[in-house]
Amino acid sequence: MKNIIPHNFQVSKADRNQSNKHNSFLMWFTGLSGSGKSTIANVVEQELHKKRIKTYILDGDNIRKGINSDLSFSPKDRTENIRRIAEISNLMVDAGIVVLAAFVSPYKKDRENIKKIVKDVNFVEVYINTSIEECERRDVKGLYEKARKGEIKNMTGISAPYEAPENPDIEINTERETVEESAIKILDFLTLKLQYTNE
Ligand code: ADP
Repeated sequence: MKNIIPHNFQVSKADRNQSNKHNSFLMWFTGLSGSGKSTIANVVEQELHKKRIKTYILDGDNIRKGINSDLSFSPKDRTENIRRIAEISNLMVDAGIVVLAAFVSPYKKDRENIKKIVKDVNFVEVYINTSIEECERRDVKGLYEKARKGEIKNMTGISAPYEAPENPDIEINTERETVEESAIKILDFLTLKLQYTNE
């Protein structure tokens, strides 16, 4: 952008990672509403926190009520929602934090865009694969019932599409795996990713 010349700050991401003794990156949980993204992210965060790893969870509650309160669930606004979350995550990753983001994020192109913003190496995609039937049976927030009655438009899985990831880093099937098993699987994957090496 014209006339915006970046200042060369002297404390870098690498410096922060070194002093925290772990890498920082974005772990992105995608899946239908009620699939288990927040539940699993919450357990993973608790375990990371116990190990003194700096973490933060971004989800619909702290994003859609605040910075993105001007956005709807139309395809265009969903794209903008994800773009802003990716930019916020990018800053937090630069600040040395392991970000756990739990968003339906139904469009493949939007998830590809996150990868471009934070860079491939800083992105871990976790697909919480729970069938629409199971999510509707759980109906944690009562949204599916409302969507069936036509009270909610653009409900992913009912009246809006969900494009499942083809090559996620981790895939969890919550109809076969418990919350604890899922968390262990994710934490195992993260062990190497967290290791900060001063190359
Ligand atoms: P999301 O964040 O994807 O919208 P939530 O985590 O809010 O979903 O809700 C998922 C619901 O499913 C919770 O009530 C949770 O207790 C339940 N659940 C049942 N089995 C599992 C499982 N194996 N993994 C994750 N959640 C599960």
